[in-house]
Amino acid sequence: MAWLRSVLSEEEEEKLEPLFRDVQGAVALSGLVLTAWALGRALSVAIVKTLLAERAQGAHPWPRCPVCGTGLESKGFQPRQVLTLLGMIGWRRRVGRCPQRCAIGQTVPFDEALGLSTGQKTSAEVHAMGCALAVFVPFAVAGRLLGLLTSVEVSPAGIWHWVQQAGTRAMQQLEGELQALAQGHSPVAERLESDVARLPLLVGGDGGHGTVSSPPRNPSGQDRVARGQSGDSGSAGLAYDPQTQEGRALAPASSGRCEGQCSAVSGAA
Ligand SMILES: [Zn+2]
Repeated sequence: MAWLRSVLSEEEEEKLEPLFRDVQGAVALSGLVLTAWALGRALSVAIVKTLLAERAQGAHPWPRCPVCGTGLESKGFQPRQVLTLLGMIGWRRRVGRCPQRCAIGQTVPFDEALGLSTGQKTSAEVHAMGCALAVFVPFAVAGRLLGLLTSVEVSPAGIWHWVQQAGTRAMQQLEGELQALAQGHSPVAERLESDVARLPLLVGGDGGHGTVSSPPRNPSGQDRVARGQSGDSGSAGLAYDPQTQEGRALAPASSGRCEGQCSAVSGAA
């Protein structure tokens, strides 16, 4: 554990000692897990804070002033803190300004390297988890669940704001992709992990919409049936049976509207 000692200061180690004693003193399994969880979080915070402090000391090139073109200069270290999935984490980093006093505000290359925008108070992984919860439950419940799962307390209004930001980004991305498509640039296919690519698969082209349902289990396993409804004449698909290890192409409809085109894939549960 030499690497651990290299990133933890004596002060940090002393802070972790009581938490480690809590773990040693826990009797019930749930107590053991919860105290170990608390120790793990505190240890993670200490590691991240130490690494941030070290990296903030490194050289980060200063950009030029967008107004006068003069190279920005450091005005010294200033504190920064962000709410993360581990809790609040703070560090100090160099802040730069234009020596000609142009009204461009302060520039912080280290924050930019961390992927943080000006004024950002919460880290991206917290945004993602809050938005994911808000997909399924109301904002107030999402905030409560986020607190229970991560100990990160966020207001419902805060999660609502994150969802608005995510929606805006998604729409901008979609509009960009549609514009590219209109200019003849086909979208780039997402890369599949090798494990995923080997899974039994039913692929279908559908100009309308599709549904997937799971009938009750039968003795030989679970059937998954996918039904597609095609709204165009060029739909096609491929059904793969993992028992026979054979696939078969689903011919595209020759003309007109094709409804209820379906195929079944069976596999042992
Ligand atoms: Zn300037």
